[in-house]
Amino acid sequence: MSNKTLIFGHKNPDTDSIASSFVMENLEKNLGNDEAKAVALGNLNKETKYVFNYLGMEEPEIISDVENDQNVILVDHNEASQSVTNLEHSKILKVVDHHTMNFVAPYQLYYRTEPVGCTSTVLYKIYKEYGIKIDKKTALLMLSAIASDTLLFKSPTCTPDDIRVAEELMNISGVDIKSYGTDMLKAGTDLSDYTPEQVINIDCKLFEKGGKKFKIAQVNTADIDNVFKNQAYFEAAINQDIEKEKLDLYVFAATDIVNSNSKIITLGHDAPVVEKAFGVSVTNNTAMLENVVSRKKQILPNILNNLD
Ligand code: MG
Ligand code: MG
Ligand code: MG
Repeated sequence: MSNKTLIFGHKNPDTDSIASSFVMENLEKNLGNDEAKAVALGNLNKETKYVFNYLGMEEPEIISDVENDQNVILVDHNEASQSVTNLEHSKILKVVDHHTMNFVAPYQLYYRTEPVGCTSTVLYKIYKEYGIKIDKKTALLMLSAIASDTLLFKSPTCTPDDIRVAEELMNISGVDIKSYGTDMLKAGTDLSDYTPEQVINIDCKLFEKGGKKFKIAQVNTADIDNVFKNQAYFEAAINQDIEKEKLDLYVFAATDIVNSNSKIITLGHDAPVVEKAFGVSVTNNTAMLENVVSRKKQILPNILNNLD
């Protein structure tokens, strides 16, 4: 495996992490890197499975660690805490991302980040810069990633670039993002056959700041009350994880993708930080965050600014 270039997004992969890995693999092959290979750091969620079924694509191999000196390319993340085990001993060739930078490498590499809503939006621009033709499948992978990350343009993370690129991708793929994207997002809200442990790990990210460790998990739903019927089970799973991972805080957000609100469960000894961070009062470990849908732009920065 060592002369291969493994391409992957973050753990608990979302549609952008998976789709952008394949879009990057295709880009690398077009640039002459025949050994490029998209892999994943976890199972595909149901939203991403919808995309793969639609395209008739095979799911990627799942890896959890890499050998020393393995060539890797990171997409949709740059923090070691969200990446593969042994990343520090790998050779990172490229990073293409749209998150806050928390990254240092003691060697030269290609690092591309833009403050846009989706990694695939950045990748689209890179294809254009190289003059590489975007085929229908690649276009639909990118379009799926944009629909997912921007919640069909409704997230505050969405930028005019994401909308412009999505329009061009609709032309190439011949797929209407509104109807296709709605079906795709809906597929991702089906939590029916997950255990509570699986639900909290569908889209969970670990963050560290000044000695504090915390996780923010998020699920999309069209029915918040239905998700919260299982609050007690989620709390048990979260408390177990807090103990195991020695977390200071755990925020679980059920995000209503129709009405653009999130109801959260907040646990851990720093749980009250949520009150200051969002100007809400926590009742029964929960709070309703009106107009909050983005972890990156709303939940995470508000917590970071109030965690001390
Ligand atoms: Mg992501
Ligand atoms: Mg992303
Ligand atoms: Mg996301």
